[in-house]
Order: sequence, then structure tokens, then C-alpha cells
Amino acid sequence: MNASEIRKSFCEFFESKQHQIVSSAPMVVKNDPTLMFTNAGMNQFKDIFLGNRKPSSPRVANSQKCLRVSGKHNDLEEVGHDTYHHTMFEMLGNWSFGDYFKEEAISWAWEFLTDVLKLDKSRLYASVFEGDKEMELEKDMEAFNFWKKYLPEDKIINGNRKDNFWEMGDMGPCGPCSEIHIDLRAEDEIAKKGGAELVNKDHPEVIEIWNLVFIQYNRKANGDLEFLPQKHVDTGMGFERLCMAMQGKKSNYDTDVFTPIIDEIAKVTEKKYGESDEVNIAMRVIADHVRTIAFSITDGQLPSNNKAGYVIRRILRRAVRYGYTFLDQRNAFMYKLLPALIKSMGDQYPELIDQKELITKVIKEEEDSFLRTLATGISMLDKIVKKTKEGNYKVVEGKIAFELYDTYGFPLDLTELILKENDLVVNRKEFETEMEAQKQRARSATAIETDDWVTLMQDDVEEFIGYDYLESDITITKYRKITAKNKTLFQLVFNITPFYAESGGQVGDSGYIDNGSEKIEIIDTKKENNLIVHLAKKLPANIKGEFKAYVNGKNRQNTANNHTATHLLHQALREVLGTHVEQKGSLVHPEYLRFDFAHFQKMTREEMEQVEKLVNQRIRSNFALEEMREIPVAKAHDLGAMMLFGEKYGDLVRAIKFGESIELCGGTHVQHTGELGFFKIISEGSISAGIRRIEAITGEKAEEMIMTQHNLLLGIQDMFKSSGDLQKNIESLMNDNSKLGKELDAMKQNFINIEKRDILDSAEEINGIKVIATIVNPMLGDKLKDLAFQIKNEMDEFVAVLGADVNGKPQLSVITSDDLAKSGKINAVEVIRDCAKEIQGGGGGQPFFATAGGKNAAGLDSAIQRAKAFVGDKLA
Ligand code: ATP
Ligand code: MG
Repeated sequence: MNASEIRKSFCEFFESKQHQIVSSAPMVVKNDPTLMFTNAGMNQFKDIFLGNRKPSSPRVANSQKCLRVSGKHNDLEEVGHDTYHHTMFEMLGNWSFGDYFKEEAISWAWEFLTDVLKLDKSRLYASVFEGDKEMELEKDMEAFNFWKKYLPEDKIINGNRKDNFWEMGDMGPCGPCSEIHIDLRAEDEIAKKGGAELVNKDHPEVIEIWNLVFIQYNRKANGDLEFLPQKHVDTGMGFERLCMAMQGKKSNYDTDVFTPIIDEIAKVTEKKYGESDEVNIAMRVIADHVRTIAFSITDGQLPSNNKAGYVIRRILRRAVRYGYTFLDQRNAFMYKLLPALIKSMGDQYPELIDQKELITKVIKEEEDSFLRTLATGISMLDKIVKKTKEGNYKVVEGKIAFELYDTYGFPLDLTELILKENDLVVNRKEFETEMEAQKQRARSATAIETDDWVTLMQDDVEEFIGYDYLESDITITKYRKITAKNKTLFQLVFNITPFYAESGGQVGDSGYIDNGSEKIEIIDTKKENNLIVHLAKKLPANIKGEFKAYVNGKNRQNTANNHTATHLLHQALREVLGTHVEQKGSLVHPEYLRFDFAHFQKMTREEMEQVEKLVNQRIRSNFALEEMREIPVAKAHDLGAMMLFGEKYGDLVRAIKFGESIELCGGTHVQHTGELGFFKIISEGSISAGIRRIEAITGEKAEEMIMTQHNLLLGIQDMFKSSGDLQKNIESLMNDNSKLGKELDAMKQNFINIEKRDILDSAEEINGIKVIATIVNPMLGDKLKDLAFQIKNEMDEFVAVLGADVNGKPQLSVITSDDLAKSGKINAVEVIRDCAKEIQGGGGGQPFFATAGGKNAAGLDSAIQRAKAFVGDKLA
């Protein structure tokens, strides 16, 4: 079976067991403070397990794109070095939400693997939770007994808490699990050593393929376990590993999921897969990472300098580095692999085809910029090598290696490799200490402590009524305390709420709740796994009973203006620039809006004007909001809705239509576009390769800005005291100004000649050397240097000290003939440093010419006298 047949058979099998097949959620997670990327199929159902949402069906199955590169699940360092861990992989999963439990989960897994896929039963093993004294839990005998129906006892292996007890995090749903392992070794090897000994021992051919988790407990903040009211099943099977087993291969990279990319890498780099361990590892790293990066970009996550974007950037750099070190790639090359990737995966994931240009551009630019950094790092390392060798040392400080890593993204192994060529090593221990210290700093900066929820009232679903109401009667159903950076806040959950929780780029509502005796401010509203949490600085004294909730209406209106404006802007951009324009992010704030989109060059002023015109036209058309609150995705698509971020939305979606603009959107909008009043772009610029950002304002803000600008113009107009064309007036003013400047300059040159004569005449002789010390006409203050050099041209052995008062700022120049300076008798710098004290200034220059400026113009006279005395002493 090829890969897509295997995926298809999984879905068909579970469909035949009454499972609803759902789409993969985006790989980049938005509404979960504890998670950056989807790392398991269950993530999108987390709030069902937490009891915050009701499932659309009690049985669900799918294939989910997962990424394990940060947090609790981080396989990054394994990837490429082994043959069965990826950064991005597909996880096939089936779920029961309070429906079937262990018996069905085990029997269906067995049926699918052995009956449908016909995998060899004798090569399969299962593991069960052996129990744990500290946790006060017994062995999972239920699972053990069900497995006994299919497997001999010696193939049912006990597993410890680490491998066989699954937890979502420090708190929340958890339970024992059963893994299915497969032994893919050759017959003769199996004969030598049984597979049971190799299960969970990191053997590349005896690997875990499927994990069946039985969620039956909830872990509380104090660590205690309690039984959940409902039991759930959560399974996950590595798709690429299953393909390896099905296709009789020894490595995921030898399956048809990866061979087209590996072949292309070989072609582009002119190396052979199989040629050496190092080449093999590098090719696997690159094949894996290029997929990950391409999919993150289509999912809306571009490489960047912080958070999720930084994780993606680091993955890209890891691939570039392996290419650089082991495949001799000195220039960007990964972007050249994209056509092969798109050819093999574009059918299943059409967003790769749609966004090909963007992915290519972003990857190439990132590669180029990292290669430049590598070059800088290498030249720094060369210097370090030289210095270390000069000092006859063999070990380079760990601190230096860490600095290279931290500021230049220069990984330790590359540093070590280059040092090795020079017979040097890094002090690894020091490096690790630095690394640990940095991690510690990061941890304490972000540590958030959360208490358990305190439930006041059982309530299934917290209903959002904010599309229709800004006020409502509410009761608080639960609350908890959170502490971050020593600040304590309270999260409140209501039975119903008019407060909009931050999402889709739109900021959360603020406002207050009031029970007649006390008013509690709500400072922000956020979503946590679909739960709407209201943030307050304190709890009401009497927390039970009815409150009235009020959303800050003015902010909400301004935010709605800006949200509707982003839709009109998106539409206009596609009309003016082309349909390659895709939204890549946005911020909808009461004061302004930000809109990021894919486009490859700077917008011209005409294009911006055209966009503004289109948006303003549609504002004046006063289109009414057409809101379709719960329509099937397919219908929205037929209506022409733009799907954002390549997201697969849940079954029912909300579509927002104004005139011809239609988008899937959960945000709050105006009733009529006329409410926006006026739309104005305030900036347009690039934020990264292929992505541009527009900032714009609407309504009162836009009006204010236009008024301020207009008043400014009127003010300028007034200054001219003529009603003529302002631009012409300014132009002629500028022309006059430059003409006058030129004339003045010419006059000053003449004036220098006149002044020079007087100055030359004022020279006194000390020991045969001419000495000049004088204050020149302030008109020539800015020409002091010219004057000095002209004097030099006309005298043989001399010293001149010139002073000038330029608009209250005293200036001094000292110049002397070359011979005098060379002989060391007079040093202009010495002279100036001494006399500048009188004007409270400092300066410098060369032995034959030095200048100084100061603060005290009144001291100019004494400065000249002092210089004269100083020079006199030197010459005496
Ligand atoms: P392993 O011990 O092999 O890392 P795991 O215990 O981390 O696996 P689970 O969290 O139980 O795995 O995930 C369920 C399934 O997903 C695994 O049985 C495996 O087939 C697959 N899987 C897990 N991590 C990866 C990965 N990094 N790349 C590919 N497949 C993976
Ligand atoms: Mg793992």
C-alpha cells in the first residue's frame, strides 16, 4: 500500500465503527497559553476532556499534523540521527468521549493492524501500565486482560509511569496507556534475541507505533488524582512509522512519504544517500525540516525572532547547518527542494501549491541571512583560534562558545568541528552551565502559577452573547487565582458573557461587573481552550449571586470599526494588487488596525490611494452586515468565503458579509459599513520576506488625523501670508534659500582674503618663529578651518591660534608649519588642550592642526592669551 492508501484505510476503518472523521487542526496553536504547536491528535479536543465543550460526536477519528519541537514533547535533537522521529509527522487517532473504553479501543486497534492491514501478528507487542507505589496506583489489569485475548502473556510487557501513564500537563486529565510496538528485524536476528527485550529500548527496528490512552483521572494542582465523571479514549499512531512497517522498510525515510524529497536533495547537492553516516543524517535532517518549515508557513507561522516563529527559525537553521557542514552547501539550497515536496504532498495539502511563491521566498531569504551569520561567526572563530594558539592553550572557554551560539546562532557542534580542525576543544561544562543559566532565566521570566478552579456552580457551556449584547445578567460559575511575575490576578468564568475574548487578532473586551454593592473591573478577556476567562485584579467580596456585566461600549465600537475595516482592506488589496494577497496576521485594536499580507514589493503611492478609495467607497455604500452564524464550511466556501491561514474550521462556521466581501470570522463587526466614517492608511512596510504590513485607522481617529494634518497645512499657508499655491511657495522659498547661501559663501571667501591680510600683519616673532594669536570676525566662524589653511599656505615657520564666537559658541583652531610640528617643538593638540580650558571645552586633531569647541564664549580672550603664553614658553 502506498502512503495515501494507508491513511485512507485508517479513516475508512473507523468510519465503519461509527466514528466521525474530522479535519486536522492547524499545526500552530492559537488559543492555548500552554502550547505553541499541536503535538498530538488530542490537542484540538482538549477542552472536551476538560469538560468545557460538548463533542459534536462521541466517536471521532482523523489524521493530525503534529510538531514536536518544544515544551514537553521535543524530539528535535533525535531527528535525522534516528530513522523514526520527525519534527512534523502525521498522527492517526481515534477518540471516544465518554463512549467506548478499553475493550473496544484494544480490539479495534488489533483488528485494524492485523485484519485490515495484515501486519504479522507474531511481530507485535503491547505494553500496559505496571502500577506505581508513589502514585498509589495498581497495575492496569483491565487492559492486560483484554490484550490476553490477542497476545501471549510474554508479549504483554509491563511499562512504568514514564512510558505508560499519560498526562496532559502538570494538571488535568490523565490515565494509563497501552502502547503497541512492532519488531521489524530480520528473521535470523529475531531468532537470536526476542523482541520483548527490545521494546522501549530505543532500538530503531523495534518501535512503538500506536499509543492507546485511557483517560480516567484528573490531576489537581496539589498533585492528587481524582476519578473523572466520564472516561475517554485517546489514541495516536505515527503515520510514517506505520508506512515503514507496511512497506517493509527499515526507516521512515525509505517510505514513499520521504523518498521523493531525499532523491531531490541528492540531486541538488550532488551527494548520494547511503554514502556515509554523516551524509545520511544530514539528508534526513533536511528532508524532515523542509517539510516542517513549509507547513508552518502555510499555517501562518513565519520564521521570526520570538516565540513560535523563533522555533521555526531554529529548525530552518539546523537544516542549513547540516547542509553546510556535511553536504558542502555554501549557498541557499533548501528552497530548491520545494517543487519536489509540493509534487509529493500538494494533492493532500493544496495550501502548499497556493502559497508556493511565499514559501520559496521566505525560505531562500532565511537561508541567505543565516549563511551570512555563519560567515561572520566563522571569521570570529578564526580570531579566537589564533588567540588561543598564541597563548599556547588547547581549550576554548565555554563562555565564548555560548556567546557564538547565543548571538550568532552558531551551534556548539559546528564550533567544535572547526576547533577540531585546529586541534582545539571547547570547555563543554562551562558551555552547559551558561546554557542552563539562560534556560533558568527564561523559565523564571515566564513562570505562571495557577491554582485549581473553584467551582461555584455546575455549568456545561459558557455561552457567548456578545454579538448581540453589550450588557447582561451573569453569575460567576468558577474562578481561580493566577500568579505571574509576582502579580496576582483572578480568572473568572461566567454562565453567559457579553465579553469578547481575544482571538482572530481582535483584542479582548474590557469593562466591569457590578452586583449593586461592588464594582469589579474586568481588565481583559482571553480564551483558554474555548473557555472565556475574564481577568480581574480582585475578587468581589460576595462572589455568589447575580451580577450585571457591562462591556466598554466605546472601545467595542472602535474595535468593530477596525475589524470591519480589515475585511474591506483585504478585499481591496486583492482587487488592486492581485489574488496572491493573503492575510498573514492582523491586530484589531480600538485605536488602529494592523494587517499583514503576502505581497512581493513595496506598494506604490497610487496603489495605496486606490485601496483607500475602494474602502472608502464601500464605507459610503453603507453595506449592511450579513451575518451567517452557523453555516457548514462547504456552504461558506461556495459563497466565496476566504479561508484564512489554510485553517480547517470546525463543522459549522460564522461567515461575515459586507457587500461583496465575505470572510469566515469570529470577530465583532459594525451593523453598517457607514459607521466606519472614514478609512486612512498610515503606514505600509515590509516585516519579513514576502510579507508586508499596513497600519490604518478609521472613524474618529482618522478624522482627527486628517484635521491635525490639515491644520498644519493651514498654519504653514498662513506663514506665507499669501494664498498662492503652497507647494510653489515652498519651492521658491527653497530656491531663494539656496541662492542666498551660495551668494553668502562667495562673499565670505572674499572676506577671508581681506581678514587674512590683517591677521598676517598681526604676527609677532618669537625666536625667529612667527606667532599669530587673534580672534577673527564672527562672520567667519564657520570658515575657521579654511582661514587657517590659507594662512598656512602663505607662511613658512609659524604658529597660529585663531578664535571665533559663532552665535555664542566659542571655537578655537591651532595650526603650525609642518617642520615645527615634526620637530616636536610645537604640537597643535597640546596647545589646543591647554587653551580650550578657558572656554570650558575640549578638542583634538593632529600635531600640525587641531580644533576645539567650548561652552564659555566669554573665555575666548583669555584662551587666546593663554595659548600665546604657552607657545611662547615652548619656543623660548
Ligand atoms: P517515542 O517514545 O517513540 O518517542 P512517544 O511515546 O513520544 O513515542 P506518543 O506521544 O505516545 O509517542 O505518540 C503516539 C505515536 O506517535 C507514537 O506511538 C509514535 O508512533 C508516533 N510518534 C511520536 N513521536 C513521533 C515523532 N517525533 N515522529 C514520528 N512519529 C512519532
Ligand atoms: Mg517521544
